[in-house]
Amino acid sequence: MTKTFRPALALAFAAALPFAASQLHAQEASAPAVAASQAQAEAPAQARNIVLFVADAAGVSVLNGASLLEYGEPLKLHIQQWPHLGLSETSPVDSFVSDSANGMSSIMTGVKTRNGVISQSPEAVRGERDGAPTKTLLEYAEERGLLTGVVSSQSIADATPAATYAHANDRGKQGEIFSQVFTPRFGDGVDVMIGAGRKRIGDQLGVLGTGFAPLADQHGRPIYDTLDAVPQSDDRPIVVADGIDVRAATLRALELLQRSGTGYFLVVEWDAHTDDPREGLQNMADFDKLMAEVESRVELDDTLLLFTADHSFGLQVDGGKRGEELLAGYDEWKAADSEEGPVRLEHVMVNDGHTAEEVPTLAIGAGAERVRGYFPNTYLFDVMLNAWNWDPDAASN
Ligand SMILES: [Zn+2]
Repeated sequence: MTKTFRPALALAFAAALPFAASQLHAQEASAPAVAASQAQAEAPAQARNIVLFVADAAGVSVLNGASLLEYGEPLKLHIQQWPHLGLSETSPVDSFVSDSANGMSSIMTGVKTRNGVISQSPEAVRGERDGAPTKTLLEYAEERGLLTGVVSSQSIADATPAATYAHANDRGKQGEIFSQVFTPRFGDGVDVMIGAGRKRIGDQLGVLGTGFAPLADQHGRPIYDTLDAVPQSDDRPIVVADGIDVRAATLRALELLQRSGTGYFLVVEWDAHTDDPREGLQNMADFDKLMAEVESRVELDDTLLLFTADHSFGLQVDGGKRGEELLAGYDEWKAADSEEGPVRLEHVMVNDGHTAEEVPTLAIGAGAERVRGYFPNTYLFDVMLNAWNWDPDAASN
C-alpha cells in the first residue's frame, strides 16, 4: 500500500513544487533578500538535523482544546503558526484505529504494521511471532554517524519511544525492549535517552534475570535514576526515572546533540491522552511552549522541526463561551473519581479511547515543505529521509 502511494505522491509533489515556489516569490517580492530566497525555493533545503515531536494521542481537537484552555482563544499555539500542515492517516494494516506501537513504528520505519508490534513487519503476531525488523530512522541516523536522542514523558520502553530504537513483537515486553538499547544494530545506538518507567522496566529486567546495575556494568554505561544525577562529563547519558521534567530533559538532550559535527536526530514524546482532559490539554500547551523554545535554539535553514501524533483520541469541545472556563465541571468529575468510560463535562466530552481520524502534522525548517495534504503516516518516514537526502535501504522493507 505504501509502495503504490509513494511514486504517485512523488509525482504530485514534483508537479506542485514550481507552483509553491512561485507563490513564495510573490509573497516575498518586496523583501530585500529576494535573490537568496529564490535560490532556496528551487529545491527543498537539505536538513542536517531533525527534531521530531510526538504528542501522544493529540488529534486536531486536542490542539484546539489546548489553545482554548491555555489562551482562551483558538489558534494561539505556537505550532499553529508553523507554515506547513498535513493530515496523517494512522491505521494499522488490519484495522482502523491505531495504538502507539503501530502509529510510531509506521512513522519511524515507513512500514505499517499491527497494533502492539514495535518496528517489525506486519508478519509479526503480537506476543507470539516476530516479523522482520523494519529499520528505523534512528537506525539510519546512527548508521550515518549522527548523534541521536530520545526523550519521553512516559516509560522510555513504552511503545512510542520503543519504536525509535527497538524491535519487538509485543509492546508489553519492556525489559526486552530496553535491553536493546545496549545491542544496537547500527552505529553505537541511542546517544542520549531520558525517560520514565523505572519501576516497570526494572521489574521486567528482573524477570529476565538482569537489572539496571548489571546492564550498566556489562556495557560500561551508567543508567541514572534522575536527570540531576547525570554528571556534566557524561555526554551519552541514559536516564530512566520515575518521572521526568520533559522541558529540562529536552533542552539537555538538545545541548548534547548539538555538539555533533555531523548532525543529529532527536525524538521527543509527550503524552497528550485526554482521558484526564485537564492533564492532556495542559501537556499539549506545555509541549507547544517547549517546541517554541527548541525552535529558538536551532537554525531552521539546516534543521527540520516536525510535530505530529501517533494516533488521535476521542476529545470534543462541544460548547463554551469566550471569557468562561473551558473545563467547567472538571473538579466535580475528578472528585467523583470515575475515570473509566466517557467523560462528560459542561463544554467538553471525551470518549475515552483512541480514534481513527487523521492527525495533524506541522512542520517548519529544512524540508518542511513536503508536509502537505492528506497522507499515510508512513509518508513521514519519507519526509524525514528526503530532508536528509538519504536513500532508503532496499532491504529495509
Ligand atoms: Zn499513543
